[in-house]
Amino acid sequence: MSSLLTERVAVVTGGASGIGRATALAFARHGADVVVADRRPAPDGVDPTHEVVERETDRRARFVDCDVTDLGDVEHALDTAEALGGVDVFVNNAGVFERADDFFAATPEDYAAVMRVNAMAPYFCAQRAAVRMTGEGGSIVNVSSLNGIVGNGKSVAYSASKGAVRLLTYALAHRLGREGIRVNAIHPGAIETPMTEPVDRAVTDRFVEHVPSGRVGRPDDVAGVAVFLASDLAAYVTGESVVVDGGYASTGGLTQSFEAYPEPTERDWRR
Ligand code: NAP
Repeated sequence: MSSLLTERVAVVTGGASGIGRATALAFARHGADVVVADRRPAPDGVDPTHEVVERETDRRARFVDCDVTDLGDVEHALDTAEALGGVDVFVNNAGVFERADDFFAATPEDYAAVMRVNAMAPYFCAQRAAVRMTGEGGSIVNVSSLNGIVGNGKSVAYSASKGAVRLLTYALAHRLGREGIRVNAIHPGAIETPMTEPVDRAVTDRFVEHVPSGRVGRPDDVAGVAVFLASDLAAYVTGESVVVDGGYASTGGLTQSFEAYPEPTERDWRR
């Protein structure tokens, strides 16, 4: 176990599943106590994250039944963190995908449902967490998306909500900088989690064709970046976006196929 996050207490929203679960586990492996704040302890058939943390590490973990759109629940999660020693790290990870199949089919209720969880909740969770961090400093990590950087016509409201998270991050980095609170965003690409389970395999395969790393992401790929941003290794990093997508966004979904590149010769490597 590393000591990167020793004596820190972290709250991870949506920590029962997927990226949040991997993040809570990674935090504990690096020395933090964790509060898993989610609507249920685990998806069906999976051991609850807080139980796994306590079984596999020597860290403390608590589950709090928390809907991030309910500020009373959020305060309860923060109280639980304070009972463990304080609120040092807050990860705004809970999120939902779009309900409507298409832009033209979406209702105001569909739009509001996505915005409430993905954009409004991180704002007020950050507000409540920052109150508890003031004086001591801390790190807020917001989980946005690749769709918070490039607009996706298949998920317009989701893209709008994740774009809001990106700018929320930058604005808060400025607002909270002098309080010693760093605020950063992570933008995952396609990550294998329950959220992406319904995605057609053929769609994923087509996407992967344009990913330099040659595969979809795993929750641990994102969790490692969250550990870095939460830790003192990132002491001078705030108001930043880290894209975790195997290189897809920065190479623009290039149509140039990887097979078209000539094999490097021994001479190429020596040059
Ligand atoms: P996931 O496995 O579905 O996990 C999301 C967790 O958040 C679930 O446990 C979910 O509970 C919980 N949640 C949803 N609404 C909530 C609420 N109102 N209050 C509290 N908890 C709530 O999905 P994931 O893929 O790990 O997603 C985590 C974050 O990464 C999300 O913000 C997502 O938008 C973002 N992201 C994911 C991907 C990807 O490819 N997977 C890519 C880019 C960004 P329920 O199961 O009860 O809904």
